[in-house]
Amino acid sequence: MNYNSDIISVNGGVFEKLIDEKEIERRTSELGVQISKDYEGKLPIFIGVLNGSVIFFADLIRNISIDCEVDFLKLSSYGDAKISSGKVTLLKDLNCQIENRHIIIVEDIVDTGLSIDYMEKLISEHKPKSLKVVTLLHKAEATKYQITLDYVGFKIPNRFVIGYGLDHSQKYRNLRSIYALTNGK
Ligand code: 5GP
Repeated sequence: MNYNSDIISVNGGVFEKLIDEKEIERRTSELGVQISKDYEGKLPIFIGVLNGSVIFFADLIRNISIDCEVDFLKLSSYGDAKISSGKVTLLKDLNCQIENRHIIIVEDIVDTGLSIDYMEKLISEHKPKSLKVVTLLHKAEATKYQITLDYVGFKIPNRFVIGYGLDHSQKYRNLRSIYALTNGK
């Protein structure tokens, strides 16, 4: 496979470039500026959702120009499937105290909204001072849960995507741009 091509074939699927790395960089910087402004003097905790959000997380927080802390959660993933199983379980809990703190969940992609709904309930139980969500990608047409996304990088069509942290059977997270499946969802 050619990691620099605009079209890539993996496991019988053909993926085309949907969002170029330069566009991701530009938008991530904009989000960082906006969040830094909104949270000035508030010492927020950014909560990364493993594994998919690690690359976006690392780029986003390097665009944050105020004091902040970080922690990570891990939820059960789709496994090798391309569609949600409709169930989510906690694989790694937070290590920080969130009571009375400003919490920002950092997601790679919101699809049905199940994961965000689950995390919002989980975190709310610990009485944060505020709770907001930033996601790089949002498949708006696929979202079924009543959730609020406070910062969205890009709205994308309901297609399976890989790259920039997003996997296909655990691979291709290291692609620098985001690619969408052309044949099938
Ligand atoms: P949700 O709970 O909103 O249905 O799905 C959120 C999670 O599903 C994401 O954090 C991600 O792990 C996974 N996911 C949803 N859509 C895609 C996709 O198009 N590609 C990949 N690789 N993962 C996805």
